[in-house]
Amino acid sequence: MLMVAYDFRHIDAWVFDLDNTLYPPQMRLFDQIEVRMTDYVSRTLRIDRDHADHLRTTYWQKYGTTLAGLMAEHGVDPDPYLDHVHDIDFSPLQPDPQLAKNIAALPGRKIVYTNGSKPYAEQVLAARGLGGLFDQVYGVEHADYRPKPERAAFERVFEIDGLKPEAAAMFEDDPRNLSAPHQMGMRTVHVAPVAQHEPHIHYHTDDLAYFLSLLA
Ligand SMILES: [Mg+2]
Repeated sequence: MLMVAYDFRHIDAWVFDLDNTLYPPQMRLFDQIEVRMTDYVSRTLRIDRDHADHLRTTYWQKYGTTLAGLMAEHGVDPDPYLDHVHDIDFSPLQPDPQLAKNIAALPGRKIVYTNGSKPYAEQVLAARGLGGLFDQVYGVEHADYRPKPERAAFERVFEIDGLKPEAAAMFEDDPRNLSAPHQMGMRTVHVAPVAQHEPHIHYHTDDLAYFLSLLA
């Protein structure tokens, strides 16, 4: 047995982030969302686009998502915001049969947990040929719009799911979102083109399908 497989032998639940994790950042889907976030911030707060773009990133850094900052500081209603920012063109996404096969081969429960909404996640999964592979899909709405990286958000979603963190693994492109999972006893895998060496990251991969093949 490979060392990496040995390290995951106790895992029976697999939690995947969505954006830039289940599709590579080179597909640039999130760029479209960022433009629409800036639009929404500009229109809702009646500020120019440069200022709105600055707030978008400031809130992302401070609160984990732009939405969480808009809710905390401006009382913005989350659902119209989520509908607006996720109304994008999904055609940059291509199906990935190898990734689908390797996810299907994992033993146990498979879950998607995104800071986007569940309806958006379902569209992304369909466009990637990953529809129907997951036992459950959770969005930011399932934790009352509290986002990752807040530990309370993870705890809420895992409580709804009945998932036991000490027997679960988390795959994520944003290193911040692996901190709480690590504290909770999960195996953490950073999925991104460039590795970051932080104590709360157990593994890094730039190729999720390949990494999963090592666990079979
Ligand atoms: Mg992501």
